[in-house]
Amino acid sequence: MARENVGRMASTLITVQEARRRVLEAISLLPSEAVEIEAALDRVLAEDVEAATDVPPFPCSAMDGYAVKAGAAERVLRVIGESRAGTPAERELGDGEAIRISTGAPVPAGATAVIRQEDVEVQREQVLSKAAVSDGENIRFSGEDMRAGTTVLRAGIRLRAAELGAAVAAGAGGVLVAQRPRVTVLATGDELRAPGEPLGPGEIHNANGPMLVALAARCGATGPPAQRLADDPGATESALQAALASSEVVIVSGGVSVGPHDHVKPALSKLGVSERFWGVALQPGRPTWFGSRDGTLVFGLPGNPVSAVVTFSLFASHAIAALQGAAVEPPPAPEAQLGATVRRNHRREQAIRVRLEHHDGAAVAVPNGPQASHILSSLLGADALALIPAGEGELAAGARVALEPLLS
Ligand code: AMP
Ligand code: MG
Repeated sequence: MARENVGRMASTLITVQEARRRVLEAISLLPSEAVEIEAALDRVLAEDVEAATDVPPFPCSAMDGYAVKAGAAERVLRVIGESRAGTPAERELGDGEAIRISTGAPVPAGATAVIRQEDVEVQREQVLSKAAVSDGENIRFSGEDMRAGTTVLRAGIRLRAAELGAAVAAGAGGVLVAQRPRVTVLATGDELRAPGEPLGPGEIHNANGPMLVALAARCGATGPPAQRLADDPGATESALQAALASSEVVIVSGGVSVGPHDHVKPALSKLGVSERFWGVALQPGRPTWFGSRDGTLVFGLPGNPVSAVVTFSLFASHAIAALQGAAVEPPPAPEAQLGATVRRNHRREQAIRVRLEHHDGAAVAVPNGPQASHILSSLLGADALALIPAGEGELAAGARVALEPLLS
């Protein structure tokens, strides 16, 4: 049985690109919901935001000084009032007059320039201009930042601090965002102990559970803490059934290989989850499984911690972003020079953990320590994944390689 399985997977390995295509093909966009701006950080915008008014909404001063008519230096101007931020001047400005003005305060009717405070000499109720000012000088015109009716933010972007500020300036009190995908992480393995628990013989800590939940949260998902699952067919089936009922995405770590204790695939098949692929020409990550039932997506990620992170980054992150109508964040650079010679895998593309260095202005991808899939420590400080195409022999240092984002 196990040998047949190995045979089936080996004969149907698909490329990373094809696997990603099949993932995206299975996505249906989640509905949107309205949230207050204060609750919108890191959410994905579901509809364009347009400027409700011009921003700034009125011509205002760029300086603390005096609103005047443009003109030469050495003019004596009578100060007839004040325009403060939030409190416009009451009077129109006439010839020979000045109105004291603060930064951001409305430019009074009749004024065509602002002379800086540093450029006048104050003499009781009047000022002496010591510099010439031209038309429009030190004035911020309405709509200079945003024009009423124009699109300020596009649907599909992730709202960071600047986007929240821009939305508020554009007049929005709240925004429509995609609902957060609910992601449930199930970590399979009789050997797993909870974080911090003492280990018995043959046991290890469940590193993948909290790590995968954290990665899902990075992509905008919400969900319960990771659940541990014994390598038992009944337990696997009932946990998967509950997870399918309460999630848009179920991520299973381990149990998708071809060993006698890998119960995930048979359980999924029993529960009516149809396989969309099993086996990717990828190292690490060959036994990655993906399927769906109605709108719910299921990823079976290999249990080795690095394999789990790599396959999450290459596949699951795309699904969680796409459910929200977003693309994944790009890698730190689209490509780089390989910083060391790497032995190729003749059948599988490799995703190696690299840190990015900059030599003479060029991005160089340096392998970040040993690359075996159980070496979690070489994920620490890694900046990206570099893709090494399948092939014979070695890929020499200096070759150009594509980079993929490595979530952390
Ligand atoms: P599996 O995919 O279940 O065959 O597991 C492959 C390897 O990953 C084995 O060495 C497991 O002990 C290890 N592993 C599986 N699940 C986890 C986990 N949640 N945390 C850390 N290591 C794991
Ligand atoms: Mg296992």
